[in-house]
Amino acid sequence: SKEVHLVKRPVGEPDTGDFALVETTVADPGPGQVLVRNDWMSVDPYMRGRMNDVKSYLPPFGLNEPMQGGAVGTVVASASDDLPVGTTVSHFLGWREYALVDAAAARPVDTSLAPAEAYLGVLGMTGLTAYAGLTDVAHVKEGDVVFVSGAAGAVGSVAGQIARQLGASRVVGSAGGPEKKRRLLEEFGFDAAIDYREGDLEGQLAEAAPDGIDVYFDNVGGDHLRAAIDAMRRNGRIAVCGMISQYNATEPVPGPDNLALTIGKRLTLRGFLVGDHGHLAQEYAERAAGWIAEGRLRYEETVVEGIDNAVGAFLDMMRGANTGKMLVRVTS
Ligand code: NDP
Repeated sequence: SKEVHLVKRPVGEPDTGDFALVETTVADPGPGQVLVRNDWMSVDPYMRGRMNDVKSYLPPFGLNEPMQGGAVGTVVASASDDLPVGTTVSHFLGWREYALVDAAAARPVDTSLAPAEAYLGVLGMTGLTAYAGLTDVAHVKEGDVVFVSGAAGAVGSVAGQIARQLGASRVVGSAGGPEKKRRLLEEFGFDAAIDYREGDLEGQLAEAAPDGIDVYFDNVGGDHLRAAIDAMRRNGRIAVCGMISQYNATEPVPGPDNLALTIGKRLTLRGFLVGDHGHLAQEYAERAAGWIAEGRLRYEETVVEGIDNAVGAFLDMMRGANTGKMLVRVTS
């Protein structure tokens, strides 16, 4: 079985030399464990943070150990009555072809509702992140103008569409490049779209939302956050979900220089982690399944084939090669 190890802590943008593909033998499951053949694994921006040796909300990846992350797969050997052979499960020991998982740490997924890989995206962590950020954190309500950055990605593409379901009157998205801009408008139903690579974010946002915005769902940070603060209306709410523009930074990144506007505009900026919003998981799963069935929630996946290409998939995702959720089909 192959697995991917972190062998060097990246400085700035990671490169393939920071990782190694390692061949191992697979052990039999001990009591209460199952052996899972990982069919799909997720690559996510937060993994960049775990490559650094710093204290954060998740411990750093160990060097010369398999990395971890979301995966779905099939139980191929079981020493647990709860998860018989053949069960499709989601768990957190990705980055390897076979995973020995405690049954308590694996969750069966319903593949009659959606294909297994959807539980790594729209019906999984990234979908719930979009929903939690809009509801629990930004309190989107009827009539709000909502701006989403990273809008063609896994979280952003779902966030834009859910904002609409929650009653937003206008939804604006930002992504990199003309092709993604087109998809925001034609596939994900945004009312207006910004290609941030064209520059002048403030100007583009003013044009896309002439009356300002009530909610900003931030996936990017940096210039996007500055432009959003500029465009916020009174009592606006900013859900700080991610700041991918600075995950590879080698120096502390200065904050937006217009933070004083938060006073007069009575703004709320609130960071959040999806892990704290598990109480919404059931409610979200039901609503999302309904929206998908009714054609109100479209989701995309960008699929890379094979564990050998998993590192490449991660690096490409960080550079924007994906539309929707970036996934690795581990075994084809
Ligand atoms: P995406 O599918 O959005 O993939 C990452 C995208 O980031 C790329 O496709 C690229 O799109 C964009 N990007 C990369 N660099 C930059 C840059 N310098 N400026 C603007 N955009 C950039 O990933 P996810 O949907 O999984 O994650 C989106 C965000 O949500 C991340 O910030 C992540 O950390 C955060 N997150 C937070 C969670 C939480 O609990 N708080 C949970 C899950 C995710 P483009 O081509 O448009 O540049």
